[in-house]
Amino acid sequence: EAKTENISNPHYFDYYLMDKLIERVNMEKRLPRALAEGEFELFYQPKIHAVTMEIIGMEALLRWNDPEEGMISPASFIPIAEECGFIVELGEWVLWEACRTNKRWQDQGLPKLPISVNVSAVQFKHPQFVQTVGTVLEKTGLAPEFLELEVTESLLNEPALIKDRLDSLKGRGINLSIDDFGTGYSSIFYLKELPLQILKIDRTFIQNTPHSQRDSLLLRSIIQLGKSLGLTVLAEGVETEQQLQFLRENECDQIQGYYYSRPVDCKTMTRMLEDGSTNHNLC
Ligand code: C2E
Ligand code: MG
Ligand code: MG
Ligand code: MG
Repeated sequence: EAKTENISNPHYFDYYLMDKLIERVNMEKRLPRALAEGEFELFYQPKIHAVTMEIIGMEALLRWNDPEEGMISPASFIPIAEECGFIVELGEWVLWEACRTNKRWQDQGLPKLPISVNVSAVQFKHPQFVQTVGTVLEKTGLAPEFLELEVTESLLNEPALIKDRLDSLKGRGINLSIDDFGTGYSSIFYLKELPLQILKIDRTFIQNTPHSQRDSLLLRSIIQLGKSLGLTVLAEGVETEQQLQFLRENECDQIQGYYYSRPVDCKTMTRMLEDGSTNHNLC
């Protein structure tokens, strides 16, 4: 009610839009500068085997340390970076940093585990994308089987555009995951036809499990769907022992979430790998 009143008030409306616009334009200008100033950093969240609880990989998550505002969440700057196209450059930096870091861990004698990198649809559709990935792997010396790319469901609905690209990435030995599964619309046909290996179930399905019977049943069905398609199934956002228990009982393969660890900085991730709660045989 109050909202309708505000929107119908022309002054309120103008100021609101103006504010948003200024904020956006500022952000668009600040992003390239932040990259040049080295204000971006990767955090890493371990991926865990649901039964053995060993670290079987890690996901790279982008952070922006703004000197004035402090840590800015990717949720607030990635959409803007996508809209203005800067995500292509920023995403390339993420690829370099993730591959370089993973290679360094391997060179230090730490367990060889795959690293996942989130790829925005805009970045994936860029004509140079596959070539860029190839260059990064070649120059960092990281073997392709240690790189995993996470794409979202929306991308799958343009199979004509992405099929060749997914095929050539897969052909190089790179693994492909579908992120935030269940929040978008993806045809089961595409899921079956496209060369994907991992299904990451969005945390909204895990959130109310097991206390919501409806969500628990839904979660179980998604795990079964993924398995029937021959995919490895990972549950995102696992926060409690009960959720883990439910996922184990329903044969979910892998988990990620605060229950095991929040995303951590590079130093902390290195320490976790050194502590040795990993199994070389699982990857
Ligand atoms: P995502 O790829 O689905 O990553 C999972 C998000 O859930 C991360 O948020 C992570 O910190 C958070 N999370 C993990 N476990 C839990 C949990 O147990 N509970 C809760 N409440 N949250 C959990 P983050 O790091 O803020 O990233 C948000 C999103 O931003 C990512 O979602 C991804 O879509 C995007 N993003 C992050 N880094 C990059 C990047 O380098 N490139 C692109 N294109 N997108 C990125
Ligand atoms: Mg992800
Ligand atoms: Mg996700
Ligand atoms: Mg997400």
